[in-house]
Amino acid sequence: MGCGGAQDLKKVFFYKKTMKRIAVVDNNKLKEIEKKKRAVNLCPVNRSGGECIKILDDGKLYIDEVTCIGCGICTKVDPDAIHIVNLPEELTKEPIHRYSANGFALYNLPTPVFGKVVGIIGRNGIGKSTAVKILAGVEAPNLGKPGTKAAHEDIIEYFKGSEAQGFFEKQKAGQVKVSYKPQQVESIPKQFKGKVEDLLKKVDEKGQLGEVAEALELTAVLDHDISKISGGELQRVAIAACVLKDANVYFFDEPTSYLDVKQRLKVSQFIRSLATPDTGVVVIEHDLIILDYLADLIHLMYGQAGVYGVVSQPKSGKAGINTYLSGFLKDENVRFRDHAIKFEIHPPIDEKKIHELTRWSSFKEKLGSFEISAKEGVIFKNDIVGILGENGIGKTSFVRILAGEIKEIKGHELAGLKVAYKPQYLETSDELVLTFIQDAIQKFEVQLVRPLDLKGLFMKKLSELSGGELQRVHIAKALSQESDVVLMDEPSAYLDVEQRLRLGRIIKDTLSLSHKSALIVDHDLLFVDTISERLIVFEGKPAVKGEVEGPFFMEAGMNRFLKNIALTFRRDEETKRPRINKPGSQLDTEQKRSGRLYYA
Ligand code: SF4
Repeated sequence: MGCGGAQDLKKVFFYKKTMKRIAVVDNNKLKEIEKKKRAVNLCPVNRSGGECIKILDDGKLYIDEVTCIGCGICTKVDPDAIHIVNLPEELTKEPIHRYSANGFALYNLPTPVFGKVVGIIGRNGIGKSTAVKILAGVEAPNLGKPGTKAAHEDIIEYFKGSEAQGFFEKQKAGQVKVSYKPQQVESIPKQFKGKVEDLLKKVDEKGQLGEVAEALELTAVLDHDISKISGGELQRVAIAACVLKDANVYFFDEPTSYLDVKQRLKVSQFIRSLATPDTGVVVIEHDLIILDYLADLIHLMYGQAGVYGVVSQPKSGKAGINTYLSGFLKDENVRFRDHAIKFEIHPPIDEKKIHELTRWSSFKEKLGSFEISAKEGVIFKNDIVGILGENGIGKTSFVRILAGEIKEIKGHELAGLKVAYKPQYLETSDELVLTFIQDAIQKFEVQLVRPLDLKGLFMKKLSELSGGELQRVHIAKALSQESDVVLMDEPSAYLDVEQRLRLGRIIKDTLSLSHKSALIVDHDLLFVDTISERLIVFEGKPAVKGEVEGPFFMEAGMNRFLKNIALTFRRDEETKRPRINKPGSQLDTEQKRSGRLYYA
């Protein structure tokens, strides 16, 4: 691209006049000195005698945002590492926090409100956790001046006229006491050695350990070693530890990861109960049905992962989620997705067009002290069967038995069929992504590689990937493998809300193109509702016995599942997304009376 044309310059000076911009350079990615020199030499401001982009003494590339005219030429040198972003015009203020000069910039903050649960929704990498850490006092904001710490007065001034002003005034007056549950519960066993009870006793400022442990179903694991409990138990221990602190604003960063649907709903009810006139709650959550159930108010966050993030003004729970799905913030005049997301009501399946693909006979098997029994079941051609049930009730074992993955239990494999299997726990190795998913690259570039955003990962080893990246790679592998049936165990785990919303469509399209059927275990109800044609519902007792029945058609399956958890669902009129009815509401009562729990 040339950089000196009169037309180009006219365009860039127009940008300079009208747009507010930031320059973000990831110097960890931009290692080669040659690339840095090229960026310096290409810059039109540098070429005309100014000094806009330079290499600092410590070898880092630096861009002066004041003299930069936003032409974007330097980004061509390494689009992954150099970002010049023209921000929405409505964004008139400086960032509330900047990681470093040319580092990630966060604009605005969510506002805790006493008596309410405030939700935060947005994709990963746009500063949700940072925003919560600032409010929780874990990180000090710098008002866009890296290396400094903003004074309380300046923060109050920054938020003057908004609800947040009141919150920071109260914080300054010592009237706010916060408690914070971090996102990464996996690190708790590294920081604390001993029993669950010892940890909770240590933080119990309210003297409510017994009550809270009971509400979160932790009583049975109180004497267990913290290093030996499951991910779901660890999550509930982290929530208990947060709640036992005597605070009046509670922050929960992703409180439902590792939890099954039943636990998610239980934890949501518990978190909701914390919001009293003297107490506020803030929650970051990717499960839209849970967020809808939990939050009174919602802040949307948009931006560019690793570059900048903006917190929207708060909206009511329903409007917040519908606006998020629409991709357009009307009040702020910002489009943050080029399309709206709508949900389809499942049309009834034409039973004449159903052709059987395979079946399993009824069986009863023992796995140690756990017993699993299944009634006879059938998978149709082009079938997508969702699997719902509690943790520890044998969903994964059932899928592994059908896949022939359990050595001790043979004879129930889907006979004569090739099965591709994506396990729940994803193995890593030193293999390159490029070779691991070569089938996907060769055959499903449009259906998988592009929409799952895998290109940038090709040269990484599996062992170098984040949880979400590894998940996307394994999904592509399972869907591209030669098979008749794809079995997937928790494909939505580690994915953010945006990726989950896309994943349903990606899986459906790829399966339909390759004429395959699938069995999919997941705990995100919106995802299961979006993707499934039919449902298998597990019943039984966790860690004791699991009973498999189905697959059922959607309405029958969901009715069965919702009966177990005593909830009813309706469809949002605008987006057709499923929503949980408030227990005891008119709709809830009517639907329970008519037996149509799924949606009226
Ligand atoms: Fe120079 Fe800014 Fe253009 Fe990059 S975007 S080449 S730093 S003027």
